[in-house]
Formats: sequence, structure tokens, C-alpha cells
Amino acid sequence: MTERICLLGATGSIGTSALQVLRCNPERYRLASVCALRQADKLFDIIKEFKVEQAALFDVKAAAQLRAKVKSAGLKCGILEGESGVCQLAGASHDFTIAAIVGAAGLKSALAALQSGARVGLANKEALVMTGQLFFKTAQEHQAAVLPIDSEHSAIFQSLPESCQRTVGRCALKAHGVEKILLTGSGGPFRTRPLEELALVQAEEALQHPVWSMGPKITIDSATMMNKGLEFIEARFLFNAGAEDIEIVIHPQSVVHSMVAYKDGAVLAQLGRPDMKTPIARALAYPERIAAGVEPLDFTKLEQLTFFKPDFKRYPCLKLAIEAGCAGQGECVILNAANEAAVEAFLKGRIGYPDIARVVETELNRGVPPGFNPHSLEDILALDARARRQAAATAASLGERH
Ligand code: NAD
Ligand code: MG
Repeated sequence: MTERICLLGATGSIGTSALQVLRCNPERYRLASVCALRQADKLFDIIKEFKVEQAALFDVKAAAQLRAKVKSAGLKCGILEGESGVCQLAGASHDFTIAAIVGAAGLKSALAALQSGARVGLANKEALVMTGQLFFKTAQEHQAAVLPIDSEHSAIFQSLPESCQRTVGRCALKAHGVEKILLTGSGGPFRTRPLEELALVQAEEALQHPVWSMGPKITIDSATMMNKGLEFIEARFLFNAGAEDIEIVIHPQSVVHSMVAYKDGAVLAQLGRPDMKTPIARALAYPERIAAGVEPLDFTKLEQLTFFKPDFKRYPCLKLAIEAGCAGQGECVILNAANEAAVEAFLKGRIGYPDIARVVETELNRGVPPGFNPHSLEDILALDARARRQAAATAASLGERH
């Protein structure tokens, strides 16, 4: 039977990889719904190729352009618009929804997808970082399975026993003999750069990731290792893990995508090319395996696999994220919002590279407002908005000196 797929963030880096996986498996999947921010032309091409039934653009003007294009091409595809349109699309009936919008912008649609009861493949880690328990409570209430797409979390998922895979969000790691989750990260493009030169780093250079090809926000997060920090929080929620259950290891070659160490001394790892099509295919087809259009890994061509401890002086964002993850949900919301604002300012050339950590730290130091309820979406969104606004102001004042 063909499964109906919804792809949130269809024009992005993950979206593009997901389309390639779907192209490899046309008899198995039918792309029913897609959305994006404002890329009308790119979305039109997708609608045409996959005969998509329903699409949404966040940007209202771009949605009007898309509607006109779809109509003149004689295609049958309904076009929704705005945040409500994106959420309506995400909440419609699908077998599987890929949540691949970037940042907090993807939160409401990810929750709508869970409420629809679809299986949800989660790439949008920020949504989980912001909501944690609320995310899984929503999933449980609507019997929606969550499958990780982030490559490290897919690797951890694949290295865990089946009963843990079936209980994502509430697995009992200790009862299954898990000693530690080893979360690997490449260390980004500035792993060996002299520390005093980091102040000179420009956006164009930070956007050149040595191994992975990804969207701009996550590429900057990979350079600062904020990405690994967000993934630490993501792993805690996905695998119901304590902070002491997770060790972060730098692995520049990105061949080992993460590992699970068991109490008998065994370590299980998932290896592969640094290609997001593999974890996307794993989530889509679970528990089966499908072709993903990924070249096999040639071990004879691998020179070496190396592993290091991260240095917090080089990666202050990683430390801030680990601390926020241990402090609580409110701190995670602040961390994420301040980081999004700081990365945006850095990408626009308004602040320097080391300012990203400064902006995030300043915002975390303000603390979580009294009475903040981590189970309330309203409280989470209000705190996100506050932290984002204040972080943008901090970035502007740092920018004057930049
Ligand atoms: P990207 O910037 O390439 O793409 C983002 C997508 O989201 C685009 O299609 C964009 O149009 C859409 N979008 C943005 N704002 C929107 C809005 N308000 N409403 C509707 N659509 C909106 O980002 P990406 O690299 O594909 O990353 C997507 C998510 O996946 C992020 O959360 C990232 O952390 C995660 N992720 C990405 C990779 C990767 O290899 N790129 C790996 C692991 C996890
Ligand atoms: Mg990752």
C-alpha cells in the first residue's frame, strides 16, 4: 500500500534529501503535502513533479504567486498560506510527516503533525529542544510515533535494542544495559584554528562545513558546536537520558554517526557516509529498510577514524547548551531563541563570531521568569519571543562595536 507523506520544509536541505529518497521509492510513497517559507518557484517544481495535492507557503504574497502558477499550469493542488495554512497542512491526515522546517518556526506545525496521529520523522530539533515533555505528551495523547532524522539520533536509535526504538521519549536505558550514549560531532570548520583567530571569522567561511552540506543556520551551529549542544538536549528527550548518560565526542571524519556503550563493555555504532538520505530512509521505512540512493561506504578508502574530547574554550556555545539542558525547559527555550537571533545577526555580518556565545550567555543570565510553566505552549512561545527580542537588542549593541 502507498503511504501518504507530508514534507514540512520541502525546499530546504533536508527537504531536498527527502525528495531524493521518495524518488527512489515511488511505489511505496506518495508525496501528498508540502510546505515552505516563500520559495514559490521551487515549490511549484515539486508540486508538478510529484503531483502534490496540497501545499502551503508561510509567506502570503508568495502563496498568491504559487496559486496563480498552479492554476495556469492546470495542476490540481490546493494552496494554503500563512502560519495557519502551514499548521492546517501539517495537521491533515498523512501516514508519515517529515518535520524539516528550520528553527522555532517549525514548532507549531510539528505539534500539529503529532496531533494528526501521523508517524513523525523529526529533523527540526529546535521544536523538541523548546518543548521536550510537552512534545512527547502530545505524541502519546495522539498515538503518534516519533522517529529521529537527525543523523546522530538516528545512529543512537539504530544502536539501541528494539524495545527502546519502540518507546522513543520514554525508553528505559538502564534496564536495557545501556551505560552511555556517545554523541559524536565533527567539530566544524574551526576545530584546529588558533583560538585568537576565531574573532576574525566571517560568515562565508563559517558556512563552509568540512563534511556535511546543510542549511545556513545549522551550518553555523555546527561551527560553534551549538548544534551538538542542541543535540545533547534532543538526545535527552528522545531517549529519556540523564545528562550523565551522554558523552560528547569529536569525530572529524563523521563516519561513525554516534554510538551506544553497554554495561558488558560492548559498543554498538552506526556508520555510513555523511548523507542525510540514510537517516531519512531509516525513519520513513522503519522497521524495514529501503534504498536511499546513497553510495556504499568504502572502508578501504577511509584513512583513519579519530576521536577527541571537546574543548569548551573553543566551543563556549556547547557548554552553555549543556548547562541549559541540565537547568530546565525554560533555559532550553532561552538558549534556542537567543541562538537563533545571534546566528541571524552573525549571518548578516552584524556581529562577530565570538559574539554568538556572548549573546546567548547574556540572555541565559536573565533567567527564566517566575511561574514559567514548561507544559504550557503559551508560556513557551512567550518566553521564546521575549528571549528573541532581547537577544536581537543585545546583538545590535554588540554590533555597534563590531
Ligand atoms: P534549510 O534552511 O535548508 O531549510 C529550511 C526549510 O524550512 C525550507 O524549506 C524553508 O522554506 C522552510 N521554512 C523556514 N521557515 C518556515 C516557516 N516559517 N514556515 C514554513 N516553512 C519554513 O534547513 P535544513 O538544513 O534543511 O534544516 C532543517 C531542520 O533539520 C533544522 O531544524 C536542522 O537543525 C535539522 N537538521 C538538518 C540537517 C541537514 O543536514 N541539513 C541535519 C540534521 C538536522
Ligand atoms: Mg546532527
